[in-house]
Amino acid sequence: RKKVTKLTTGSSDFDTLLGGGLETQAITEFFGEFGSGKTQIMHQLAVNVQLPKDKGGLEGHAVYIDTENTFRPERIKQMAEALELDPVEVLKKIHVARAFNSNHQILLVDKAMELAKEYPVRLLIVDSLTAHFRAEYVGRGSLAERQQLLNKHMHDLLKFADLNNAVVAVTNQVSSNPGMMFGDPTQPIGGNIVGHTATYRIYLRKSRGNKRIARLIDSPALPDGEVVIKIVKEGIRD
Ligand code: ATP
Ligand code: MG
Repeated sequence: RKKVTKLTTGSSDFDTLLGGGLETQAITEFFGEFGSGKTQIMHQLAVNVQLPKDKGGLEGHAVYIDTENTFRPERIKQMAEALELDPVEVLKKIHVARAFNSNHQILLVDKAMELAKEYPVRLLIVDSLTAHFRAEYVGRGSLAERQQLLNKHMHDLLKFADLNNAVVAVTNQVSSNPGMMFGDPTQPIGGNIVGHTATYRIYLRKSRGNKRIARLIDSPALPDGEVVIKIVKEGIRD
C-alpha cells in the first residue's frame, strides 16, 4: 500500500484546515450553493496536482469529469500562468471528459482507470457528482434507485483513489436553506439526510465579494473548523 500524500488547494489556511491538503486514497466532497466556488476549486486542483511535490503537488495528471459543461481552458491558463507553469503543458495533462448522463458518468470512471495505466493520473474530479442523478431520478419512487447508483459510483471512485494513490474531488450543489445549518447534498430542501461515502466533506458558502467560507465537516480524524478563502484571477488563495 502506497503512502497517503496531500495535494495543496492553493490556500495555506485551507490546507491547514485539511491537515496539509487533500488526501490521496480518499474522496473529498465540496458542497455548497451556486457560485460558492466549487468549480473554481476543481480547476485549481487540476493545475496544482501537476506541481512538484515540494510545492504541494503530486507531479501527476488530472482526469476531469465535467457534467455541466463548466470546464474552462482559459481559466486553467490563468491559474497555470500565476504558478509560472506552461499553460499548454498544463492543459495537456488535464484529461477532460464530458458526461452526458448519469450512466455515462459512471462509465467514465472505468475509462479513467484505463487512462491511469497510461498516464500518472493522481487526481480525479467529478464536477458535478449529483446533477445528472438529480435530474434523472426525480420523485419519491426513484430515490432508492438513485441512492443505490450514487453509492456504486462513490465506491468506484474510492477504488480509483486507492489503486492510483490519487485524490478524488467531487462537487455537489445544495441550496442554501436558512433554518438548516447545512444543505443536504442528496436531496432537495427538506428531504431525508442521506450522506455520501466521502471521507472528507467541505461546505462552501459565499461571503463578501470574492471571499468564500470553507468548513470541514465530520472528518474522521481532523477537528471541524472553517477558513476564509478568496477567488482571485490567479485562482484560490488565502
Ligand atoms: P455552481 O453550483 O453553479 O456550479 P460553483 O460553486 O461551481 O457554482 P463557481 O463557478 O466555482 O461556483 O464560482 C463562480 C465564481 O467564481 C464567480 O461568481 C466569480 O466570483 C468567481 N470567478 C470565476 N472566474 C473568476 C476569475 N477569472 N477571477 C476571479 N474570480 C472568478
Ligand atoms: Mg460549478
